[in-house]
Amino acid sequence: VTRVVAGIDIGGSKVLAVVLDERRDVVASVRLPTSIGAEGVVRSGAEALRQLAQQIDVRAEDFTVVGVGVPGLVEVGSGHVSHAVNLGVGGALALGPELSRRLGVPVVVENDVKAAALGAAQLLGLEDADLAFLSIGTGLAAGLVTGGQVRRGARGAAGEIGHVSIDPEGPVCRCGQRGCLETFASGTAIAAAWPALNGEPPAASLFAAAAAGDARAVRVRDTFADHVASAVRLLVLTCDVEVVVLGGGVTNVGSALLDCVVLALQRQAATSPFLATLNLPGRVTVVPVGSAMGAVGAALSGLAAFTSGDTARRRSDDGDRPA
Ligand SMILES: [Zn+2]
Repeated sequence: VTRVVAGIDIGGSKVLAVVLDERRDVVASVRLPTSIGAEGVVRSGAEALRQLAQQIDVRAEDFTVVGVGVPGLVEVGSGHVSHAVNLGVGGALALGPELSRRLGVPVVVENDVKAAALGAAQLLGLEDADLAFLSIGTGLAAGLVTGGQVRRGARGAAGEIGHVSIDPEGPVCRCGQRGCLETFASGTAIAAAWPALNGEPPAASLFAAAAAGDARAVRVRDTFADHVASAVRLLVLTCDVEVVVLGGGVTNVGSALLDCVVLALQRQAATSPFLATLNLPGRVTVVPVGSAMGAVGAALSGLAAFTSGDTARRRSDDGDRPA
């Protein structure tokens, strides 16, 4: 029996979905705008899967398993999502069971950054490495892959380093604390320090101005890079991951971001023989612009859970039957 696995990455503005073949290569993909709100999110996911099915000429229910990556707190076992603010889902949403019911396929839901970490490992050929994926977008968060598996932790909070406070006098964060790393190293932080005109993304505007020699832009960019470097250091010092992959919306500026972060890591190591030994500049990399890591990772999360028998349909089939 051929396995057909789909991955759907549902973001605040777009849904990207892929089909993986047996060799885990992408054989079909779909891109849709996201409908916001609980019903909109379910509908967007279902529509993406129907379009994928059409592309490869199968029925939606022919998929072996569907993995879905979404922002917010995800309870992987039940497929429930909460605090997905970017998707207009404030309360809890039974995304896995609802999609599974509508499509007639097993659905596995994973946090989008954790899924992207799996996707990055696969796409960069680093399946055997311990790896952290650092998502620098609206917020800042990391996904950790160790021994080929996503690390979630006791409450799913593993990798939420954006909310490590580094300045008790700093700006108030959306989490309620002050001076979180996220308030210094995120797309939102760039937008606050470098408000772009004419609708250009602030990060693109900042990096272009800095490259053109604008002194204030250089300062803002280098301060930002210093804080991203702090996040990289934090990940290596807590988990000693072999590779830290930079991803998220801000990486659309391209290789200039990696260059600045590497320079910042070199500056920080210059006065510390301890840090120098750890070779941080050599351990950081960036995802290629336009890669479908989130969707690929969602598919791999689905496949991993399916293989271990932990999917939404299976859960709902089991119902309240005593163990
Ligand atoms: Zn915070």
